[in-house]
Amino acid sequence: MTHATFPLGRIAGIRVGAHWSVLIVMALLADLLATIVLPLGAHASPPVVNWAVAVASALIFLVSLLAHELCHALVARHYELRAERITLWLLGGAAELPEEPPTPRTALLIAAAGPIASLLLGGGFLGAAWLAAPMLPAVVTIALSWLGWTNGVLAVFNLLPGLPLDGGRVLEALVWRVTGDKARARRTAGTGGGLLAIALAAFGAWELLALGNLSGLWLIGIGWFLGAAARTEVSAAPLRHLLSQLRLAEVMTNDPVTAPGWYTVHGFLGQAAHARLRVFPVVSFDGTPIGVVSLSALTRVPENERASTRLADICVKPPGCLVAGPGTPLTEVLGHARLRPGQDLVLVVENGTLAGVAGPDDLARAIELTALGIRPGHDVGNVK
Ligand SMILES: [Zn+2]
Repeated sequence: MTHATFPLGRIAGIRVGAHWSVLIVMALLADLLATIVLPLGAHASPPVVNWAVAVASALIFLVSLLAHELCHALVARHYELRAERITLWLLGGAAELPEEPPTPRTALLIAAAGPIASLLLGGGFLGAAWLAAPMLPAVVTIALSWLGWTNGVLAVFNLLPGLPLDGGRVLEALVWRVTGDKARARRTAGTGGGLLAIALAAFGAWELLALGNLSGLWLIGIGWFLGAAARTEVSAAPLRHLLSQLRLAEVMTNDPVTAPGWYTVHGFLGQAAHARLRVFPVVSFDGTPIGVVSLSALTRVPENERASTRLADICVKPPGCLVAGPGTPLTEVLGHARLRPGQDLVLVVENGTLAGVAGPDDLARAIELTALGIRPGHDVGNVK
């Protein structure tokens, strides 16, 4: 989902982006509004007015989706859990919350925040439509009512009790609260998601076959997506739990080959070729880690400047490269950044000196070993 997303900016420090499929949603909604919904009670307004109001309404709906996700993210952050980014896509929005809530109460509040925002927005739009009815053109009040009802339907749909919907997370939090068993709660909410997926797909099939209504295909698609997502959430849970117990110190490469920051590109080439690596941590003269340099960065230095360009000047420095302590949980690193092979490296720093490095291969290896039931703790003794 992240490959075809374009950034829209930051809100309260949280990155917001949109997948190209949002454009399809926008176009479908604007078309539905301009050709079917708005003409219902606005015979007098010309098509160009309908289209202008339709496009504006579709945009406002997108902002409502963003508000829903933002409320999840802000409540998570209120409880000092990291909120990475919000992506809008074909089926709405997704807030990336890499850290698991520590208590059922926190889980419940984070899950409920989005639907509550949608309900409030829905009520607000309906109230505005009612207030505006005597003063504004009918086309505007119809658009406001549509925004109200759509946000309401969004809230109700999201509260259906199955993962990956918000209602599934609410159910999970409640079962967790009652039984004290988080894994069991996750399985219950996953089963809810599976049943919901079957119900949606069955309803879609009935709509398609009995009524000949093509929108049934859409429901079958959503059902299929929900079912797959519910299975992933349940099967990934034990692995995620194990990974959250792993520390960087257990998976990092100790004593990595370092690139001296005071070396020129030309002076470093021999060492770089010998090391059989593509990315190097760069250290200053006193051993302080200062950044990361890759072979691909070296290729971008023109040949006639290699003898005069120092590694310290071209290396990627924080926050461009991730710096973390050896005790950092692996899930935090995995949730924080997408590491590119041959480009990125996590600098594991302790007391100002380089304790090790972790690249995408180290992290992938840790995940694979964990999935195989092996704890990749070859240096457990180093964990403080
Ligand atoms: Zn939500």
